[in-house]
Amino acid sequence: MGLKSADRYAEALNDGRRIVYRGQEVPNVVEHPVLGRAVRHAAVDFQLADHPEYRSLAIVDGDEEPYSRYYFIPQDADDLRRRRDLIAAATRLGGTVVPLIHEIGSDALFGLLHVAATMDRELGTGYQPRVQRFLEEARRQDWALAVAQTDAKGDRRRRPHQQTRPNAYLRIVERRPDGIVVSGMKVHTSVSINAERLLVLPTREMTESDADWAVAFAVPLNAPGLTLVASPYLGNVTNAVEHPLSFSHKMVETMTFFDGVFVPWAEVFMAGEWAWAGPLARAFVEFHRFTAVSYKLPLLTALVGAAGELARLNGIGAARHVREELAQLMIYDMTVRGLLDAAAAGGAMVEPGIFRPDPALTNTAKYHFATGLHQAVERVQDLAGGTLVTAPGAEDLEHPVWGPILADYFTGAEGSGRERLKMLYLAQDLVASELAAYHQVLAIHAEGSIEAEKMTIVQHYPLSAAMEEAQRLAGTVVPS
Ligand SMILES: Cc1cc2nc3c(=O)[nH]c(=O)nc-3n(C[C@H](O)[C@H](O)[C@H](O)COP(=O)(O)OP(=O)(O)OC[C@H]3O[C@@H](n4cnc5c(N)ncnc54)[C@H](O)[C@@H]3O)c2cc1C
Repeated sequence: MGLKSADRYAEALNDGRRIVYRGQEVPNVVEHPVLGRAVRHAAVDFQLADHPEYRSLAIVDGDEEPYSRYYFIPQDADDLRRRRDLIAAATRLGGTVVPLIHEIGSDALFGLLHVAATMDRELGTGYQPRVQRFLEEARRQDWALAVAQTDAKGDRRRRPHQQTRPNAYLRIVERRPDGIVVSGMKVHTSVSINAERLLVLPTREMTESDADWAVAFAVPLNAPGLTLVASPYLGNVTNAVEHPLSFSHKMVETMTFFDGVFVPWAEVFMAGEWAWAGPLARAFVEFHRFTAVSYKLPLLTALVGAAGELARLNGIGAARHVREELAQLMIYDMTVRGLLDAAAAGGAMVEPGIFRPDPALTNTAKYHFATGLHQAVERVQDLAGGTLVTAPGAEDLEHPVWGPILADYFTGAEGSGRERLKMLYLAQDLVASELAAYHQVLAIHAEGSIEAEKMTIVQHYPLSAAMEEAQRLAGTVVPS
């Protein structure tokens, strides 16, 4: 079957899935006035295959039929770079918001393939062929996938089996000859309302007592017992002129409630192998943080570009402090890009046929992006001026009397007043809107918190070698 059209994608979502939005059940997500926007936004991932500029990037010529490059397992650094470029292209067309419906799921499948192979070798399980079959079907059907890894987690000090609410982490409540039954709550699940399959992974390392919580599998989104409670964040954006990005582009996250959901064995990828829960959680994020930084690149370009444009329109481009702010924005952008490229170049085969980016450099790129975004936002806010939050509404600009007066007074050093106001609206969406807040929280938490990135960097940094070098320089090495 191969590549899917955006129309067929939308049709597939009308499958009786249970979505709750602001206390109401949603009969058809595609037609919902708010959630439907997330469907249309994500469809860009399918449109890329027909896009003249990106077609060759988006498609792989498979043995039998072409399929989406998202489902191509990277074999070397250049494959990782092509994957980065595809993710960045989709996010650029998505107005700085990643479509995510292929990106996150393929990351999960790459991680699963890696860990299932090692589990099968060491434990004699048979998970790898199941994951492989699922990947081939995802390719064939060009599935949109969501990934539910993060659990509700309850008391953060306690392990899954120590929680007072045992379902704070998703767990196996019954093992049957034909499959498993799971209950519990996953949270922050992006694109679940508009995906065709949901991949579920453990979120942390586990102990033997947590065996029932060590579970990974795939389910359709209309599985009986599955309910998606959708977040209303970014649900109130009503004006396309004032919000050139967030009016059309949005992701939706859900609290994803499993109430006795049955999963047949063919789609179970881990069931009780507690020692492998941590490695699987990490194997996924090793790919997913590379994706995360790839989809930040269009946002970085937009921040630098909007700052540069506002400086030009306001006539402040030559001022020393303005040049300094612009230089700092460019350095931030270039550092993230450079680190990501180095992460691709420094990657390695983790299993025959699976090339993974360098974890320390990927996490350094993600850390650098996440800890620098708020300051970058501050720089754009500074250059833009207070109109970011005081500009008149789009209707005022169209008013027969006030429109021309406002446009006249909005004129700066260059261009028209309308041009300047439109650039301010863009900057507003980037640094002073609900979308801006979403981007900032996304930067800090999505794909793992800052602490998680730091831990990975420390874990992979060659500290002993650095200490030995310090001993050599200090002359404290005792000759053997
Ligand atoms: C917009 C968005 C989209 C997302 N999409 C997805 C998705 O599609 N799928 C998915 O699975 N997840 C998704 N996530 C989840 C994301 O990975 C988590 O937000 C992240 O791992 C942090 O977890 P948390 O939000 O539960 O915060 P917490 O884990 O509660 O972290 C809050 C703070 O507590 C600290 N903390 C946590 N535990 C401990 C502890 N034991 N000891 C000491 N300190 C601790 C953290 O370091 C952090 O400082 C998304 C998140 C966001 C914001």
